[in-house]
Amino acid sequence: MLEVHAELLDRLELGKVADYIPQLATVPLQKYGIAVVTREGELVTAGDAAEDFSIQSISKLFTLSLALGRFGDRLWDRVDREPSGNAFNSIVQLEHENGRPRNPFVNAGAIAVTDAILSGHLPKEAIGEILSYMRFLASDDSIVIDPLVARSEQLTGHRNFALAHFMKSYGVIDHDPAMVLGVYFHQCAIAMNCIQLARSGLFLACDGCSPLTGDRVVSTSRARRINSLMMMCGHYDGAGDFAFRVGLPGKSGVGGGILAIVPGKASIAVWSPGLDINGNSLVGTATLELLAKRMSWSVFH
Ligand code: GLN
Repeated sequence: MLEVHAELLDRLELGKVADYIPQLATVPLQKYGIAVVTREGELVTAGDAAEDFSIQSISKLFTLSLALGRFGDRLWDRVDREPSGNAFNSIVQLEHENGRPRNPFVNAGAIAVTDAILSGHLPKEAIGEILSYMRFLASDDSIVIDPLVARSEQLTGHRNFALAHFMKSYGVIDHDPAMVLGVYFHQCAIAMNCIQLARSGLFLACDGCSPLTGDRVVSTSRARRINSLMMMCGHYDGAGDFAFRVGLPGKSGVGGGILAIVPGKASIAVWSPGLDINGNSLVGTATLELLAKRMSWSVFH
């Protein structure tokens, strides 16, 4: 893994940081970390694996698993399960499909999932529930939300407001859009490092049980389904290319993180803030491509 890290160092400048969230634009392009946790609990790291970054859309994976735990398959009444082939924040697709989001990983779908988590809660309770879930999965109580990132997005997230209001007009979300987005921006602003993130995803590599805590997080069939969704939708309009190059389920975030799952074997988190045109980490994808190839990791054996 150290070899892969060293090999890709000279590509870090090729990506572009997500400047549409001003606070994320301040992160240096040179940051680059990798962490792999195996099902036996072995940890291997390289580079800036212990440095916090904004998990952004990777949070959508965890809110989905949290909401499925609470609402079961009823959650699918409000969000579809199809790849989008469109940008993560596309408005045109939502209008075309009468306010029903394509999948839980595009922004519209994730906002609808967060709306479900908000039911019966105040926004700060829902934020607390999501944060506790992340701490539980990572077995690490030091995980926090970066208030500057949350605020930065709150002030500039006009597209997300448009998506939420549009869904509200179709009755797809129940709560006040501003309340739902307050929670959504905070979940996206959770700060974690590669080690914590790889640990949090391990249950998806282990049939829904976390070997770290011994807890069952989701059922075996649900873990498989979440992995399928990651494969088909985890990288938005770059999902096909990611599947082609890496061959593993993965979820990206505009903070430059990617969580990838090697079913039955390991969980991998990589962070490099430079993004490609689809908003996915450029070197992060290249890292996973190389690592998967060298380790012969693929779901398509
Ligand atoms: N918080 C970001 C947004 O809503 C998440 C997008 C992402 O990571 N792809 O725009």
